[in-house]
Amino acid sequence: MKTGKTIHDDVLRLAAEAAIDYRAAPAPGFEDVASFEHVLGTLDEPLPDNPTDAAAVISELVTKMTPGLRPMTSPTFFGWVIGGSHPTGVAADWLTSAWGQNSGNVVITPASAAAEQVVSTWLLDLLGLPATASVGFVTGATIANFVCIAAARGELLRRVGWDVEKRGLYGAPVIEVLIGADAHATVFSALRYLGLGSERVKSIATDESGRMRPEALSDAFRSIDGPAILIAQAGQINTGACDPFSEICSIAHDHGAWVHVDGAFGLWAQTSPRFRHLTRGVELADSWATDGHKWLQLPYDSGFAIVKDRAAHERCMSIEASYLPSAENRIREPSAYVPELSRRARGFAAWAMIRALGRSGITEMIERHCDFAAALGRECASIPGIRVVAPIELNQLMLRFGESDDATLATVDEIRRRGRIVVGPALWRGEWIMRVSVCNYSTGPEQLAEVAGEIAGAWGEMQLRFLDGPRDRAIAAT
Ligand SMILES: *Cc1c(COP(=O)(O)O)cnc(C)c1O
Repeated sequence: MKTGKTIHDDVLRLAAEAAIDYRAAPAPGFEDVASFEHVLGTLDEPLPDNPTDAAAVISELVTKMTPGLRPMTSPTFFGWVIGGSHPTGVAADWLTSAWGQNSGNVVITPASAAAEQVVSTWLLDLLGLPATASVGFVTGATIANFVCIAAARGELLRRVGWDVEKRGLYGAPVIEVLIGADAHATVFSALRYLGLGSERVKSIATDESGRMRPEALSDAFRSIDGPAILIAQAGQINTGACDPFSEICSIAHDHGAWVHVDGAFGLWAQTSPRFRHLTRGVELADSWATDGHKWLQLPYDSGFAIVKDRAAHERCMSIEASYLPSAENRIREPSAYVPELSRRARGFAAWAMIRALGRSGITEMIERHCDFAAALGRECASIPGIRVVAPIELNQLMLRFGESDDATLATVDEIRRRGRIVVGPALWRGEWIMRVSVCNYSTGPEQLAEVAGEIAGAWGEMQLRFLDGPRDRAIAAT
């Protein structure tokens, strides 16, 4: 077979070198990153009529895109709960692209299917979930939530004699959906895709950290006697709080309900003997969504849809066609657990990442991040005018400045202007807070003094500005 070797060599080496240079370069400040409009301006030209040399195209891509890249792989990036794209996962991901495997089928792509099967076993072990559960390799927690809730919908309706996969939802028995009041926005997207509706849910009251109140759940079940899905959460996006799984699973299962857990990042508390009390009982649920591109540090995109009832998972997702050879001896097709047929072979990077870190490396990283959040919280709590908004249980820290929205937003703005660390604003219980999400593989105690210093410095600067009268910057931030 022809490989076109010389052409490919040049362009692949060029890309690898540019990637290495990018990761070695100092991270730009938040405000030093070029805007969307700027980058668009450099790209916006008519459709090219003729070919351009591949190496020139890749060089141009690097030149034009680099100014608009946020420093998401930096150890002082705390803006959102996102991982750092660990170099091991990135390297495996380069090969994934180069190998060009379409990962839907055991016979067609044996290596990819085998990698996914091994990663599934490792993942269930790491996360302390039932060893016989099935795992779908998806793009992220949003689609993992969708897949898991699809399995729930199909199985609950099957139990009352309705085949939703064949007959659809018209005329089907009603499914009630119960969900914590502080659930992540994306589970509502999943409900929308599935015809379950984002607004016809029963919202369950939560405590001050965003954890579902079991007594409120019991009350809600009193008026339900048909099929029901309870959507719980490991890792509230602002507080990191996890629902009390032992209690709520027991209440929900007494009513025959399916319990789904959105554990995009919080489920990883399971890997730590010091933190797994937070997720106690989570293995009692029926399905779990989690991310690979958050706490496992895999490059985008990577998520896992995990379902205890393998048959329910297969019924809602499997694809059959005459031109797709099927595996013998009931080996599981990777496409039977995800919405896609053709897709990225995500098992290679996941295999490499888990193989490289091992159980102890993953545990060490999770604990280091939680310890960092706790230590930073202690430092900040000792600075007058800064309040730690909720108890720090996991890797999330919320700070409020001067008991004011203006002062808090202005401090976030000032930190971003200074450009050494990235934090973000969020609304919690109607008040603006600064959120610090610790989720990068390279973040550790060596950054603590710098990060605490930046927060204290920015807050000091804001206080001066507030006292001195002109509040233009602070007001602009709102
Ligand atoms: C990030 C997150 C999601 C969405 O995950 P994606 O990977 O962005 O699709 C869902 N739920 C929670 C709790 C999250 O933190």
